[in-house]
Amino acid sequence: TLTERLSRLVKTVRGQARITESNVQDMLREVRMALLEADVALPVVRDFIQRVKDKALGQEVVGSLNPGQVLVSIVHKELAATMGEGVADLNLAAQPPAIILMAGLQGAGKTTTTAKLAKHLIEKRKKKVLTVSADVYRPAAIEQLKTVTAQAGAEWFASTPDQKPRDIALAALDWAKRHYFDVLLVDTAGRLAIDEALMAEIRDLHATLRPVETLFVVDAMQGQDAINTARAFKEALPLTGIVLTKLDGDARGGAALSVRQVTGAPIKFAGVSEKIDGLEVFDADRHAGRVLGMGDIVALVEEVTKGVDLAAAQKLAEKVKSGSGFDLNDFLAQLGQMKKMGGLGQLMDKLPTHLAAKAGQADLNRAEKDMRRMEGILSAMTAKERAHPALLLDGKSKASRKRRIAQGAGVQVQEVNRVLNQFEQMQTMMKKMKGGGLFKMMKRMGG
Ligand code: GDP
Ligand code: MG
Repeated sequence: TLTERLSRLVKTVRGQARITESNVQDMLREVRMALLEADVALPVVRDFIQRVKDKALGQEVVGSLNPGQVLVSIVHKELAATMGEGVADLNLAAQPPAIILMAGLQGAGKTTTTAKLAKHLIEKRKKKVLTVSADVYRPAAIEQLKTVTAQAGAEWFASTPDQKPRDIALAALDWAKRHYFDVLLVDTAGRLAIDEALMAEIRDLHATLRPVETLFVVDAMQGQDAINTARAFKEALPLTGIVLTKLDGDARGGAALSVRQVTGAPIKFAGVSEKIDGLEVFDADRHAGRVLGMGDIVALVEEVTKGVDLAAAQKLAEKVKSGSGFDLNDFLAQLGQMKKMGGLGQLMDKLPTHLAAKAGQADLNRAEKDMRRMEGILSAMTAKERAHPALLLDGKSKASRKRRIAQGAGVQVQEVNRVLNQFEQMQTMMKKMKGGGLFKMMKRMGG
């Protein structure tokens, strides 16, 4: 993942206090790769990288964060901002019925999404909803809309393949008016590729209906091609929103970025399954994490720091400052803190579902077991050993001490060594933060 690759790079720039032209170059290359792998279109990637670079240069690196982490958080924020901040529900501010026109390529998910939206409008906004199909090219398409509309609990207006799309639309509108429908959803035909006849037809439908929402439905799996499709629809129609479908698939969803950039329209919903309830309000922040191939790091950082005991952190900071150093007792206390935060399970919940599934329960169990085992090893040390780690690190009797500890904790001596290694790494980090940096950092994060 991007985070892994960046942390590898970061080893070489660790300890640098700000992001500079020289240390940012390699990191930006990784970000660029991650975006391309997520199928963001090349010109969009270029623009994006430039914006991130402008924001990142000169940025200070605080506390225990390293330049890579700071850059990732800038990238994450910029991605979320580009894909639209906050959420945008459907606009129904029109003389009823509010008309919603669906546009997009064949197979993008228009018909499915029409029914999903009908359900959403009925359940969340208590609307009376009518659907109609203006797809006269495939008789099955009209039947398909009839079926899914019934599943949504909405009403369906009959149409036949021998009618003109414009006549269908006008008849449905008339019916909707006379029967006091709040919303009329108009499903349309798609083609396998952009063609002029299709565009002319939907332009005509738009002019006839004057919809309050013109939604561009796009398949997240379409990848790099999404940008061309989006451009064509944007030229033909004044799009008011985007629905990104099939986000339950493997696609990393970079299409969101391209489509948003090209159309300027907000991404309003995401399709997350074939089923009628597989529609979610689009969450840009969460989606940014998916595009980057990592969890929502902002939420993670908040979660991790929420449970941090500031008093304990201050005590620790003072200890470091006074020169008494970070010892194994502190290490043990830190593990306790982590448990207090709800353990790793809580953190896993913050990951996007596809990542959490990848990490899986097995990894989680292993990590939790690791933590418990570390705790067991630390507890098997004497208080004196914990307060004077040197006894175990370079004392004369360190070998026999370690054997005793391993036996007490029921593990191999190598495992004791591993814990001591981890401790030493931590200690080095703490030394760097001497001077209260740790406390300041935790305070800042904990609010
Ligand atoms: P249309 O040609 O644009 O009307 O597309 P359809 O609504 O007929 O959908 C094409 C195919 O994509 C169907 O098999 C749908 O079940 C499937 N589909 C639509 N939206 C989603 C989605 O969000 N997730 C998944 N997995 N499949 C979807
Ligand atoms: Mg269809």
